[in-house]
Amino acid sequence: AARTGRDAAALAVRRRTNFSRALGLSYSEPLHIVRGEGAYLYDEADRPWLDMVNNVCHVGHCHPRVVEAVSRQVALLNTNTRYLHESVVAYAHRLVELLPDPLRVCFFVNSGSEANDLALRLASAHTGARDVLVLDHAYHGHLSSQVALSPYKFDGPGGQGGPTTTHVCELPDPYRGRLRAGRDDDLGPRYAAPVASHLATLKSRGLRPAAFFAESLQSCGGQIVYPDGYLRAAFEHVRQAGGVCVADEIQVGLGRVGRHFWGFETQDAVPDIVTLGKPLGNGHPLAAVVTTPEIARSFETGMEYFNTFGGNPVSAEAGLAVLDVIQDERLQANARARGDQLLAGLRRLRERHPLIGDVRGEGLFIGIELSLPGRAPATAQAAAVKEAVKARGVLISTDGPDANVLKIKPPLVLTEADCDLFLDVLADAMIQVEAHIQ
Ligand code: PMP
Repeated sequence: AARTGRDAAALAVRRRTNFSRALGLSYSEPLHIVRGEGAYLYDEADRPWLDMVNNVCHVGHCHPRVVEAVSRQVALLNTNTRYLHESVVAYAHRLVELLPDPLRVCFFVNSGSEANDLALRLASAHTGARDVLVLDHAYHGHLSSQVALSPYKFDGPGGQGGPTTTHVCELPDPYRGRLRAGRDDDLGPRYAAPVASHLATLKSRGLRPAAFFAESLQSCGGQIVYPDGYLRAAFEHVRQAGGVCVADEIQVGLGRVGRHFWGFETQDAVPDIVTLGKPLGNGHPLAAVVTTPEIARSFETGMEYFNTFGGNPVSAEAGLAVLDVIQDERLQANARARGDQLLAGLRRLRERHPLIGDVRGEGLFIGIELSLPGRAPATAQAAAVKEAVKARGVLISTDGPDANVLKIKPPLVLTEADCDLFLDVLADAMIQVEAHIQ
């Protein structure tokens, strides 16, 4: 172990030589992971780590069916969408079958950021407008156009504020927000009122909105489950003002929320554009934008849309294999069952640990918010719990504007025993942290 520890340290030094310090590493002692299988990662000493973080390797790390599909196709042909190819057409068909009407037209891209950039172009083409409404603490991507829509970045460390065309709406956070579950009524529609106010301000300036961008459940902002009826009410306001509603499903889509296949279905709302990314290719870079025929037509201006890698046959095969595995291994149902198991276990843990302020989530998208009295963020404690859990072989991350929310978003192949292990490890970590940090 000492030798492998030295190897990881030496690698960290070499990495620093040619990498920007802007690129981060997780944990006070970074891990050197060399392989993955199912819900586990293995380091250079072949120690297993239960991965409760990776929402990209959705059907499990290196799922053999995805590996086989990609390997077969990469050995046969890889081209672009200017040739006819069966796989990408079949994949578009499979995706839209999983989405409600009128979401029928697909564009394939290579990352979530690209998907949101294209969504913005589509919305602007359709409305002729430029102003965009976003939620506070939202993250939509690393491209310039997306940093400009991400208060998480432009109002966060190193940020320089947002552009005047981005309008930040209040985050509907029923735990720490202005309106709170258990105290206030009609949270959803009331939290949507600020969206209407931003739209009214725009109107008074003679402007129309291009779009309202929101994740269907907010991930980077701290695993926020919106109150019932929020998105539906917000979408209504936006549509009345002539804007387009974009649901960012990059983290939460594809069966993760368990009860439904898409996050927006938990809100009983249908967007005009949906952006998909992370889990689509199980780690292979594949992302997509799906929209209505009407919006797609507005984009047919004569300017070609060409994306060199987007929708190539290898990506399409990865995407098809992922959908097959979700279906054949009943992973949406597993997300629901394992999510229920975790939520029940975490709620029991909360009764014993006042540091656990809130437990929330849908399926395998869960947030554990650590709070001090008065719901003040327990930031140092969250960092300590993350490290204490890691010391016991389990990987989680922290997030939210105060980095006090433990994020749970594992591959959907998590087993009942994995969940028991995680709950035991977290219970031990809580005791350790409470003993050391007051
Ligand atoms: N939207 C959301 C909600 C995300 O979480 C991310 C990635 N963390 C993105 C967009 C950007 O995706 P990518 O990193 O693939 O560009």
